[in-house]
Amino acid sequence: MNLIQSINPFTDQLLKEFVPLNLKEAKKQVTQAQNAFEAWKETPLAQRAALMKKAGEQLRNQKQHYARLISLEMGKVIKESLAEIEKCAWVCDYYADHAESFLQDEPISLPDDKKAKVIYQPLGVILAVMPWNFPFWQVFRFAAPTLMAGNAGLLKHASNVPQCALAIQEVFDKAGFPEGLFQSLLINSQVTLSLIQEPQIRAVSLTGSEGAGRAIAAAAGKGLKKTLLELGGSDPFVVFADADIDQAVETAVKARMINFGQSCIAAKRFLIEKPAYKQFVDRFQERLSQLKEGDPLDENSDFACMARPDLAKELFDQVKKTRLLGGKIPFGGEKPEQGSPFFKPTIITDIPKNSPAFQEEMFGPVASFFSFQSEEEAAQIANATDFGLGSSVWTKDSDRAERMSRSIESGAVFINSMVASHPWLPFGGIKNSGYGRELSRQGILEFVNTKTVYLG
Ligand code: NDP
Repeated sequence: MNLIQSINPFTDQLLKEFVPLNLKEAKKQVTQAQNAFEAWKETPLAQRAALMKKAGEQLRNQKQHYARLISLEMGKVIKESLAEIEKCAWVCDYYADHAESFLQDEPISLPDDKKAKVIYQPLGVILAVMPWNFPFWQVFRFAAPTLMAGNAGLLKHASNVPQCALAIQEVFDKAGFPEGLFQSLLINSQVTLSLIQEPQIRAVSLTGSEGAGRAIAAAAGKGLKKTLLELGGSDPFVVFADADIDQAVETAVKARMINFGQSCIAAKRFLIEKPAYKQFVDRFQERLSQLKEGDPLDENSDFACMARPDLAKELFDQVKKTRLLGGKIPFGGEKPEQGSPFFKPTIITDIPKNSPAFQEEMFGPVASFFSFQSEEEAAQIANATDFGLGSSVWTKDSDRAERMSRSIESGAVFINSMVASHPWLPFGGIKNSGYGRELSRQGILEFVNTKTVYLG
């Protein structure tokens, strides 16, 4: 049997091992969740909100402990892990404060003087299949709205972050949520796909790769379960020559390097208007070279390593293939040692259309540069991808910003800013980046029964 292993990628040290649950054991936990749901759906919203506030407090009180776990299991630098925990507490507060108004009955006046209303009711047990890159945040942005809406939550976390998975259940347990309402199941992918067929599981939320999205959506489709998919991205960062270039470069480096590039909404393709291109690439490279590499637990480190050695290898293969097809690498591009998660930040220019840097998601610290000569060309390159998650546009011309925000095919456009998730803003993608929205009012309405009540 394959154990689920918690390994520190920076030191390669095995931290802990867990025996995964088999299907029979996992089904028992689904039953427990269903039992907890039956009482929870009747619990007043004010009571749910008080518990969600407590979850936020638990996160803040134990911030150092939870942040350390993140850094140990997936190599994120500690300052970013701390920020991640703070953000989780924020989303708990946000839904504690707003869920009641989001879920209020909505009266509808009909033209024939009849009346109707829409009411929002929970669906039941919702399964979340989550990734390792933001091991707390990805889960909390699912769990806070889902539980506040009156559902129960089950988590199948990525196999490389089992300690984070268990710690997240601990947050809800310590906050005083009913037993079984939120549980982390240490299960493998096969058991997950079978579990989806359980009648009590009403819907599935997945954040992860396209491949995982297709497998989960197919299994859910077979069982006629709703899915929400938040998959990859190849976000464009479009800079016009009239933009504040200093600010744009500073933000571009941050937007590419956050979480060592392992973020679905990281800026991945930098589209620079020709007159500013050379200056922009040079300054980007200069800033990149100033970042400090070090131990993830050192608060001065800007980056450490990738979450697993196979991710470093996969990323390097994409860089190598792009170079062989004619791409140029003015910075970085070194091959990682065999079995190592360490990776040198890399810049690629002169990118051929048939190369991975043009066509695929680069999930790590590799910045791909393109130049353009017109607004139309910028939009055309921005949209020449199968993905459509986020995008960032830099210009001082507000009319142009407005036009670009409409012509880019993505779930979000941030003007003169980097893309970031925010509890108040809907988050999600189009095309192969998935469907459905998390966060904001739209997020809490994903896993409810929007019920029409006609008052005859
Ligand atoms: P995966 O997409 O494989 O993993 C995400 C989650 O899905 C994990 O919990 C994983 O479990 C689960 N999963 C994967 N395949 C299946 C399946 N067939 N059936 C059921 N569950 C499944 O991410 P990887 O770790 O392999 O990362 C590879 C790539 O995924 C990255 O390079 C990046 O492109 C993309 N990715 C995107 C993320 C995003 O935020 N959108 C986050 C992470 C990765 P398990 O760990 O047990 O396999």
